[in-house]
This record gives sequence, structure tokens and C-alpha cells, in this order.
Amino acid sequence: LTSSATSQGLRVIHIAAEMAPVAKVGGLGDVVCGLGKALQRKGHLVEIILPKYDCMHYDRICDLRALDVVIESYFDGQLFKNKIWVGTVEGLPVYFIEPHHPHKLFWRGTYYGEHDDFKRFSYFSRAALEFLLRAGKKPDIIHCHDWQTAFVAPLYWEMYVPKGLDSARMCFTCHNFQYQGIAAASELESCGLRAHQLNRPDRMQDNSEHDKVNAVKGAVVFSNIVTTVSPTYAQEVRTAEGGHGLHSTLSSHSKKFIGILNGIDTDAWDPATDPCLEVHYNANDLQGKAENKAALRRKLGLSSTDHRRPLVGCITRLVPQKGVHLIRHAIYRTLGLGGQFVLLGESPVHHIQKEFEGIAENFQNHDQVRLILKYDESLAHAIYAASDMFIIPSIFEPCGLTQMISMRYGAIPIVRKTGGLNDSVFDVDDDTIPPRFQNGFTFLDANEQGFSGALERAFNLYMNNPERWKQLVQKDMNIDFSWDSSAAQYEQLYSSAVARARARNTLN
Ligand code: ADP
Repeated sequence: LTSSATSQGLRVIHIAAEMAPVAKVGGLGDVVCGLGKALQRKGHLVEIILPKYDCMHYDRICDLRALDVVIESYFDGQLFKNKIWVGTVEGLPVYFIEPHHPHKLFWRGTYYGEHDDFKRFSYFSRAALEFLLRAGKKPDIIHCHDWQTAFVAPLYWEMYVPKGLDSARMCFTCHNFQYQGIAAASELESCGLRAHQLNRPDRMQDNSEHDKVNAVKGAVVFSNIVTTVSPTYAQEVRTAEGGHGLHSTLSSHSKKFIGILNGIDTDAWDPATDPCLEVHYNANDLQGKAENKAALRRKLGLSSTDHRRPLVGCITRLVPQKGVHLIRHAIYRTLGLGGQFVLLGESPVHHIQKEFEGIAENFQNHDQVRLILKYDESLAHAIYAASDMFIIPSIFEPCGLTQMISMRYGAIPIVRKTGGLNDSVFDVDDDTIPPRFQNGFTFLDANEQGFSGALERAFNLYMNNPERWKQLVQKDMNIDFSWDSSAAQYEQLYSSAVARARARNTLN
């Protein structure tokens, strides 16, 4: 159970609700895996702790086995047994916690969206720390992610440091401040945290509803390092408009708060090796990209008569954040401009899902438009490879990964200038941007007019200047979106937090 530290590398434990490719709902899953791999490559001992969901992709876990221990963890006034599994995912050691709890906490056929999510994930946060304590692990960094594991930070300092699990500095990354884990203060008691101590303005009390606690606020207050996933988003959330109620908390903790742009997993997203593609290609040989476009058109029953007709792709969760009204508008505007449109997405919001099902039905046998309303990893790869353009008209976007993936596959992004999109997509027509950084089309106003302007400029370049378009595709495919530089920034933050703690211990 106990693993020894590598020579000088840091011992880093990520505690998260998602990890690609075994348990992925969105970008969080990609980040946990991509950042973990990059830190491991830099010589750190990285381990991950996840819930053992019944609906995970078990075929992506190597050597999964149950450990010969049972961890008992406290919840709702009782002790529950947890079986601990270990396996390797993408070369990273992962522990899976399987609670023996009558409510079958992670045995629901789904990751999120259950009425008792606050309980399920506060249970998991506590069980993960209990496991670290019992296993005798001595991490240098515990890194938790989003509201689901935000409880780890207060639990660590309030309960586990006194129990002797005290080697670590705490890092918290918020991937989206819209989701904060807010519940009646009394709910905190279930995992053993003291509501009367923590339901205070300078601790976990929600900034608007004072009888409620806020898990993300708790993690901001109780962590040594707080990050979010792009520099622009880090600025936006410090304002009243962008902070989802947490701007004052983030401003008062601004010294430890920083935005680091995510990378993408360039092994998993590589058109030169991607097993999901019909034909492999690279920036110097784009013939394969044209073949992938032809293959997708055949597969989806779209017209193949004009191979130059631009294919516009969109792959997204259909939630208001993503600008669903602009996505809908893009379908009709693309048709008007003579393009083809493919959407892959699904919605957890009933009325949005219904609305898009209606649109999908209207275009069921259409030559130029196809909507596929489900989650489909391999179809996503095929769409990135086939698309000439890729739209991301988000209202807000903490980082966004699809603009980076699309560029790597030679699909030019058309995005709203917000959050991480503003840090990674630079307009080809913006004279204030050095030409070598120009890589896509951007717009500011979150309305149909603003978006249409950018889409039309993209069509114009594609139709009227194929040579310049090709150069743009090649340039975008060669941009380095790997985790290397972002992981180096995390490494730097970890190392200075650890060094500060060691210096303090020496002084004491
Ligand atoms: P978010 O985390 O807000 O969903 P990101 O852009 O950070 O958005 O990450 C989205 C990730 O999920 C990308 O890897 C994208 O390809 C993937 N994705 C989104 N919707 C689907 C879908 N319906 N099928 C397959 N992959 C999807």
C-alpha cells in the first residue's frame, strides 16, 4: 500500500471526480489525466484518487485489482467500509474508492446530477483522506479539483492534520466557478465538518445565502494554492459580473490565486496517430484531412458533391454557458453561406435537449446538416479531423479545450473572446496581434450579429484565398498545445509552496 517517494520528485496526489479516459464528463477529466501525465514525465510521483463508478470505462484500466485492506470512513454518525481498488490509467497509478454504503453512492449508472451529489462527494472527499492517512502516504501536494472534491481542503486542515496526515500543501483548481457545491450548512456535518465553526463569512459561508455553505469558497479559503484554468478567466471571476458570487472571496485571496491555461493531451489528440481516424495526416500532408472529411460525410449521409464546401463542426455540452442560441443560429447561417454543419453534443438540461432533438429531426435527411445528440468519443475525433472550421460561441469559457484540439486537427476556430478562448485564439484580421500568433476568428458581442461577422470572415477567407487558408491550417496544426509549459507552472507553484512550508518548519 505504501509507496516510497522518488528521488527528488514531489509526491502529488490528485483527488478528483473525473479522469479521462475512464471517467470523463468534460474538460476536468482531460485535465486530471493530461496534467498528471505531464507531471509524471517531469519526474514527480503522481497518484490519482477517484470514486469507483459503475459506469466507468473499465476497459481503459490496466491491472485493476482490489487491495487487501478495508478503509473505514466516517459519515452521518457512522463508520462505513470502503474497498480500495488500484489500477493504471494511461500510465498513472489510480486508486478507486468503492464505498459499502446502502445508498450505492457511485453505483447509479451516472457520474453527476443526482439529488444527493453534495453527500456523495463529501463522502468521497473524506474517504480519500482517510485512505491517505491509513496507507501512510506522505504527499507533498494534495491537489483537488472543483466543488466535488473541494471538501478535501477544509477536511485536511480541520481534521486530518491533527490526525497526523500533515505533510502536504493543499492546491485547489476550479475548472468552472458556475458550479460551487452549495447546500444547507447542516449538510456539512455528514462528513464530520463542524457547521457552526465553518458557516462564517471568512470560511465556508455562501456569500449570498448565509444559512448555506459553499464548498468552492471553502477550498479557496483553506488551500495554499488556488488556480483556475486560464489567465483571462482568473481576471473575469474577480469581477462582480464574472465571479458567480465569489469575486470578493477571490479578491481577498488574490495573492495565492492564479490562472494557468490548460494544455491538451497531445498523445491522445494527434491526427498522425489517432486510432479513431480513417486516415492519418499531419501539417505537411493534408491529403488525409480531406479523406477524413469525405469519410465523415459518407458516414453521416451528407452531400459529397462539392469537396471544397466548408464543413463547420461543433462538439460541446449543450448548456447555456456554451451559447446555445448562437450554436442554433450557426446552423442556419452556415447553410445560408453554403457550408455544411455537424453538431455533436448532448444536454443535461431537459428543454435544451428537447429543442435540439426538434432541430435534429428537421434536418434528419438533409444534405448539409447533421445533429448527433449523444456523447461519442470516437465520433468526436472524426469530426475534429473532418472539420474545416470549428465554432465555440461561449458566453463564458474558463479555458475550453475544443479550440486547441480543433487547431491541432487543422480546423480553424471561430470563438467568442472570453476566458481561455481569449488566451488561445487570436484573430487573423487583428493588426494589433503579431501575425505569427494569429490563428483563428474571434468576436466580442454575444449576439447573432457579432457571431455572424466572424463566421462570414472565415467563409470569405476559405472561399477566396485557399492558399492563405491552407497556410493557416498548417500554422494552427504546428502550435504547441501540450501540457509541458502549463505543467511547468504547476510544478513551480507546488515547489515554492513546499519550500515555504519546509522553511517554516526549520524555523520552528
Ligand atoms: P467543458 O469542460 O465545459 O465541457 P471543454 O472544452 O473544457 O468544455 O472540454 C470538452 C471536452 O469534452 C472536449 O474533450 C470535447 O471533445 C469533449 N466533448 C464534449 N461533448 C462531447 C460529446 N457529445 N461527445 C464526445 N466528446 C465530447
